[in-house]
Amino acid sequence: MDKLQLVARLIDRLGGAHVEKLAGWSGVLALNYHRIGDAIGSPFDHELYSATREAFAEQMAFLARHFDVVAPEELAGLAAAPKGRHVLVTFDDGYRDNFELAFPVLRALGVRATFFVTTGFLDDRVLAWWDEIAWMVRRSPRGRVPAGGWLEAELSTAPAHQLATIHALLRRYKSLPSARCADFVAWLGEATGSGRCPQSAAAETWMTWDMVREMRAAGMSIGGHTIHHPVLSQLRPEEQTAEIVGTGARLQAELGERMRWFAYPVGGREAFDRHTRHALQEAGVELAFSYYGGHGSPDAWDRFDIPRVAIERWHDGPRFRATVCLPSLYGDNKERWSRRVRTTVAKLMGR
Ligand SMILES: [Zn+2]
Repeated sequence: MDKLQLVARLIDRLGGAHVEKLAGWSGVLALNYHRIGDAIGSPFDHELYSATREAFAEQMAFLARHFDVVAPEELAGLAAAPKGRHVLVTFDDGYRDNFELAFPVLRALGVRATFFVTTGFLDDRVLAWWDEIAWMVRRSPRGRVPAGGWLEAELSTAPAHQLATIHALLRRYKSLPSARCADFVAWLGEATGSGRCPQSAAAETWMTWDMVREMRAAGMSIGGHTIHHPVLSQLRPEEQTAEIVGTGARLQAELGERMRWFAYPVGGREAFDRHTRHALQEAGVELAFSYYGGHGSPDAWDRFDIPRVAIERWHDGPRFRATVCLPSLYGDNKERWSRRVRTTVAKLMGR
């Protein structure tokens, strides 16, 4: 049993009434989702599935019951009163299941969420690179990807190894300078024997602008996530600016309002740099969200590095509840992590 599961069990044993007392934090906890639905059977990247529709509905009901779920528009007002536990629900990329499965749940519960859309995916109806790479591995008739110019070692595409192979290839992609990325995907199509994913499969993957407008009209917030989803720090400064200004212009054209919120593609500490911040500032973006865990406080945070916690498929009910009660478990500081687990367990035991 991992530590998170241990904490999860203790929290559940104490019952929902104690959640407020247990939640040992104040400020803003931003949660991040990608896709909602069943990963099994999807030919694309399974890692992008954050929760099934049922799990998501349960999670949102729990948040609505125990926390103050806020929209980004409300965050500025919180700086004066940083106490309290405010949760922000966010989605990255713009997948169609966000509209079809998540939006009805959010609307029914009156929960406001923020959707960061990759405008080029919505406009061009092309598959994201991670989904196309996963698709190539899953349908490869050759059983392997050979070593060579792009890979140091051969990778297996046999079903038992597909997940690890997809992981390795995505890591490789992220390490490449942006100018070489397209060539890598083209090579992989040939090397796997899968070719390129047909456009028809991509067309149904993304929301339409009508869907985005409908969500906005219902009180959801919409933010930018670039045009092409590059790792911004790997672009030249003027290319970064083009991605940020361009995605803002598309949001303005489709929604009639300027881009106020932004989420960094990939979102780790190394995914953005001072040029990214400068471009966001120039574009009038108010808050930009990263993606490496932790939570923040509006009176103290870096507005171009608002931390978010990833919600993943392995967050069953107890793990989700433990995560939102104790988000420090997800910081990237191992020492603080174990200290927090120790004090929490002591607190729970000594109740
Ligand atoms: Zn993304």
